[in-house]
Amino acid sequence: MKHLIKILTIVALAFLLAGCIDKGGYKYGVLPDGVVPVEGEALQARNAVYNTDLSELTVHWRSAADPRTYKGVEVSYTMLSGSQKTVKIYANKNFPASYERWCVLTVNPETVNYRCIWINENGNETVSEWSSVDELPTTKTTSSEVFAALPPTNFTLVRDKVSDEAWTMYESIVGKGVEAQEKYYRGLFQQVVATLYNSVTDYTNSGHSLPKLKVIVGKMDLDGALAYVSGDADGPFMRLGSDLLESMAKGLTTFDYANFEIRGVLIHEFTHVFQNTTPYYLDGGELNPNFFASIEGMADAVRCACKGVFESSKISTALNSVPYYDESRREWLEDLKQYKFGPYVWQIPYGGSGFFMQWLRYYDGDFLRKLTATMTIMGKDWSMENAVKYILGEQYDIESLWNEYIDDIKAENTSK
Ligand SMILES: [Zn+2]
Repeated sequence: MKHLIKILTIVALAFLLAGCIDKGGYKYGVLPDGVVPVEGEALQARNAVYNTDLSELTVHWRSAADPRTYKGVEVSYTMLSGSQKTVKIYANKNFPASYERWCVLTVNPETVNYRCIWINENGNETVSEWSSVDELPTTKTTSSEVFAALPPTNFTLVRDKVSDEAWTMYESIVGKGVEAQEKYYRGLFQQVVATLYNSVTDYTNSGHSLPKLKVIVGKMDLDGALAYVSGDADGPFMRLGSDLLESMAKGLTTFDYANFEIRGVLIHEFTHVFQNTTPYYLDGGELNPNFFASIEGMADAVRCACKGVFESSKISTALNSVPYYDESRREWLEDLKQYKFGPYVWQIPYGGSGFFMQWLRYYDGDFLRKLTATMTIMGKDWSMENAVKYILGEQYDIESLWNEYIDDIKAENTSK
């Protein structure tokens, strides 16, 4: 009887496997065009972690994958807009941790499906069966939890000629009293640092630190700025303009708008405190045409990733950033007799490059953290084009990704 059960089990297993494996003599008819035969299984996942602040899902393998046979994962998920997307996230020797885990940006972690991409003995790409994140133990976390051990900052809070009414508005946003306000600023630091770095150790190793910061709220003294960071004899400071607060006090700006805008502006400014940078000059004294995208693009990418940009602004910035290449973007600086920016769309500072950078998290949830690393690794050779190849792999071409980004934005725009 035992023997019979064993035979039946083998027959049943063979029957089940016949549908999905073409190795070892099993084949189930002719596969339709574009369908890749399934070989082997997905790696065993240890767990999944979802950062609710960044909408990032990270799946950890039980043990590191073998780079000789493992290429990465194909992942199917729901984007923040609600649309479905399926992409291949390739592991990459430039980032050894990509053999231990993968990360994707999604609004709904439970519905994420994935399968492993393997290289078989003929050197061809094959895939495993689909697995669902739903079957994994998933924990939720926040950026503040991940960076709970972020080294502390000593704050000096300064009120510089702000009316009582506007100050009350300020307190309604950042909290009343020193303790609440320091907590608000520290919370923003954690949001920013979690977008740029993997861990407290990763952050500490980057060489950045902020042992103290003076926070000044008052009349803006820099043309066109809502806030900025700089330094004086006391050390670094951040100045937040009080105009929006005064306007709110007069009833001209709603609490919701001012609250959202001030948080977003501060996230952009604090990115400048913690981000890696690229050189301003290239060899031979030439201005680096990628410098402003690496600084101001990144700051807007972080702001967008931390949900500090209005949807309408994100969409209009993307749609106004076309075409891909435009000579007229190069700003001629007469005194230096050279161009300041480059002609490519990914060389535009602020949201032009930044919102594209953050969209690339759909191709690798760790994209912005890896982008941070590339700025140090590549130095003068850093450009979005080179960084995309370095992070996502040679398979990916920045112009095709840009076109897909614009298609996604157009779809989002029409579905509104
Ligand atoms: Zn900036």
